[in-house]
Amino acid sequence: MAKGRTSSRNPTSNSIDRLDIHIDSSEEEELTFVKFMKNHKCYEIIPTSSKLVVFDVTLRVKKAFFALVHNGVRAAPLWDSQKQDFVGMLTITDFINILHHYYNSATIKIDQLEEHKIETWRDVLKDKARPLVFIDPDMSLFEAVKKLVQEKIHRLPVVDENTGNVIYILTHKRILKFLALLKSEIRIPSFLKKSLRELNIGTMSNVATASPTTPLIKALKLFQERRVSALPIVDENNKIVDIYAKFDVINLAAEKTYNNLDITVEEALKFRQTYFEGVSTCKADETLEVIMDRIIKAGVHRLVMVDDEDHVVGVVSLSDLLNSLVLKPAGEDGRTSSSS
Ligand code: ADP
Ligand code: ADP
Ligand code: AMP
Repeated sequence: MAKGRTSSRNPTSNSIDRLDIHIDSSEEEELTFVKFMKNHKCYEIIPTSSKLVVFDVTLRVKKAFFALVHNGVRAAPLWDSQKQDFVGMLTITDFINILHHYYNSATIKIDQLEEHKIETWRDVLKDKARPLVFIDPDMSLFEAVKKLVQEKIHRLPVVDENTGNVIYILTHKRILKFLALLKSEIRIPSFLKKSLRELNIGTMSNVATASPTTPLIKALKLFQERRVSALPIVDENNKIVDIYAKFDVINLAAEKTYNNLDITVEEALKFRQTYFEGVSTCKADETLEVIMDRIIKAGVHRLVMVDDEDHVVGVVSLSDLLNSLVLKPAGEDGRTSSSS
């Protein structure tokens, strides 16, 4: 495991110092965020200092997940010293895949997970282990959003081609925050005043949910099968009571409780490390502007859409927002493109 501090090329670049957007007509207005993202490069949003944790593929899986918890990071690039190259990422989704795989195996016990190296696991789950998707710091933020949304990933390493080093890991959260800075600099584009329903943003049907009594193993299966990053937790009347996100699964490693996946989601949520202030929700008739502000303030990856009685009706995630603000207006809808 290697750990380091990174620094950006442009230490003063956390604010918008150059505003090269001119809004002339409604078509131009629709392209406001597209232009902004095309005009700014990835290195501009890299903080002056941030923590980066890298794992060698010979590291044992158990140690790797403990190290994620210990270092307070969500993911780590994987270094293969034989190939002298980064070969992929290790994220909480991988932890879920590993737990699920071994829990269902009649021959291999979950304890053996503790002995497996990352490279062994990548060999076992070949179809799920993908080569590293990365971006050059000189590429535009538009390209970064395209990769995140089209590849359906949540972590995009920025790799300096000259040194081959990973210098930062970009996320939807960081990009949306940067994009929101623009709002204070310009006349608000009129589409931000439209509602989620009018703009058709988010998922408003077939929402994957769980109940407090759902066995954890079933929730992990839902994460895998539905490829969603969180499950709203609902009562018997489909009213929102909590949320179980992939992020919460890492607490099983923190608590060393991953060999009992028969506990309920409610029990698993007791391991949450941070104070829980309740589920951040929204309504389909709220405006895009309000939603952007709320999701940034809440610091979460998605808002659960509810009706006036708190029944769950949908989900709006950061990838939905970036897709609608940046990709769709440019004719590059990440949800319908051939690469997705
Ligand atoms: P998280 O579990 O943090 O939500 P993702 O949804 O991005 O992360 O991960 C989904 C799968 O894609 C995992 O198997 C992960 O290892 C892989 N993955 C994530 N980011 C990348 C990347 N940049 N390059 C290659 N594979 C990645
Ligand atoms: P990440 O930063 O990896 O994208 P998430 O935002 O998915 O992580 O989850 C971080 C924490 O916030 C988890 O404990 C999760 O249960 C909680 N959480 C996720 N979405 C919401 C939400 N809409 N309202 C309240 N808490 C949430
Ligand atoms: P995410 O990976 O969270 O950015 O979401 C990817 C897509 O799945 C987005 O279009 C979300 O609206 C949708 N989505 C997220 N969570 C759920 C869920 N629990 N049920 C149905 N769709 C979801």
